[in-house]
Amino acid sequence: MSAPLQHRTGMPYSASPARVVVVGAGPAGMQAAWAAASSGTKVTLIDANPSPGGQIWRGEQSVSSAGARLIEKIRRSNIRFLPGCQVVDAPQPGTLLCSVNGEPEWISYDSLVIATGARERFLPFPGWTLPNVYGAGGLQAMARGGLDLRGKRVVVCGSGPLLLSAAAALRAHGAEIPLIAEQAPFAHLLRFAWAFRHLPARVLDAIGLGKRLFGAGYRSGCYPVRAQGVDRVQSVTLRNSTQEWSVRCDYLACSFGLAPNLELPLLLGCRIDAGFAAVNEWQETSVPGVYCAGEVTGIGGADQALAEGEIAGLAASHAKTAPELRERATPRFQERERCRRFASAMAVCFALRPELRSIAMPETIVCRCEDIRMDQIAGHKSWREAQLQTRLGAGHCQGRVCGAAVGFLLGWPAEPITPPLFRVTENFMACAGAAAGVTPDPASNPSKQ
Ligand SMILES: Cc1cc2nc3c(=O)[nH]c(=O)nc-3n(C[C@H](O)[C@H](O)[C@H](O)COP(=O)(O)OP(=O)(O)OC[C@H]3O[C@@H](n4cnc5c(N)ncnc54)[C@H](O)[C@@H]3O)c2cc1C
Repeated sequence: MSAPLQHRTGMPYSASPARVVVVGAGPAGMQAAWAAASSGTKVTLIDANPSPGGQIWRGEQSVSSAGARLIEKIRRSNIRFLPGCQVVDAPQPGTLLCSVNGEPEWISYDSLVIATGARERFLPFPGWTLPNVYGAGGLQAMARGGLDLRGKRVVVCGSGPLLLSAAAALRAHGAEIPLIAEQAPFAHLLRFAWAFRHLPARVLDAIGLGKRLFGAGYRSGCYPVRAQGVDRVQSVTLRNSTQEWSVRCDYLACSFGLAPNLELPLLLGCRIDAGFAAVNEWQETSVPGVYCAGEVTGIGGADQALAEGEIAGLAASHAKTAPELRERATPRFQERERCRRFASAMAVCFALRPELRSIAMPETIVCRCEDIRMDQIAGHKSWREAQLQTRLGAGHCQGRVCGAAVGFLLGWPAEPITPPLFRVTENFMACAGAAAGVTPDPASNPSKQ
């Protein structure tokens, strides 16, 4: 057993105390940490990734962007930032069990802000497991990380604004974009654009994207039904209301909207409403002292995440009782309201069409980690029942990919994951169990059976 464990065994739950702990260093989490710290509170900010920024700003180098400025403020502040730190359990109220470079670390808190963001929803269809079929945001991240896409034909399909930003980023990395296939009907897109014509920032964003995507193919009202290829994807077949046709491609990038990362709120017993963490005006959940901000409370983009983060950070540091800080939150309430109106319109515009529920055939793999087919789960009544009978979601990703898909396909609500929330080693379990004075039960972690 390692030396650090000996150290922690004596005081597992008092290590690393902080008044406010923020989980997630995306826009919401960083803004929450900054707001809490600047009102004089001791703050720890943790993120599973090695660098801050979240999905939108991680790896971005532009010093002029709002993201770069916020990251710099965090770096210069006295906020304790723990990169590469995954929250894997909440063993008792006020305590998180984290994995830091594979070692257990307990972090205690008075108030917790959960800003764990969202992930792409990937719907299964025949051929989606072929090599070179990726999530749109995932492929974008790989391109930023050095994947050479020069001269490669990338079809981008699914739904939502992420398709456009991903396509623009892929093109900037040299990809050819023969088609962006948006499932929402043209009439919805038109209504959405008209409703927000008076918001200059959104109009400028749209113009900027339009310029970056000039010449790329774009069709609304269509969706993928099959991907074809031998050892990798070579074409995708799309369908609209009147026809089916195929488009040749080297990569297929799909994203059917975003689904919130609810594992931690569910584990802590926070109420979930319409698929998102329910919060009050101060972003506090149904569990006192636990706040949620950003996409975990609703898909609204970085501006909404920043506004919610600031409100949550101020509230978590008990600033709502100080009049001058309440004053500081007031403009953020207005900003949040404006963003939420935009988010509601976006949800209506990009609502997934019911036909997408039937693009998975009975023999289509739904859970890629455990090779579970659609026909194996279709007869079950809930996620839990299907998991117990088939090992659905019990593999490496612990249901992070198939959970969001099945939620849409079969209407099953998200259910709590049995901790650990991320896959950990046997050694981690043994160390954590020994330090807490309990014998770990391997059966409690379905991913390890
Ligand atoms: C794949 C993807 C790509 C995107 N690309 C774009 C884009 O190009 N342009 C754009 O405008 N918007 C993009 N978005 C949307 C954008 O991410 C959001 O609008 C915004 O960043 C939300 O901010 P957030 O702080 O709520 O969450 P995020 O930015 O997602 O940050 C959440 C953070 O929480 C961390 N985390 C989660 N769980 C844990 C845990 N248990 N322990 C420790 N850390 C944890 C994650 O590592 C992550 O850094 C993308 C979204 C996704 C999912």
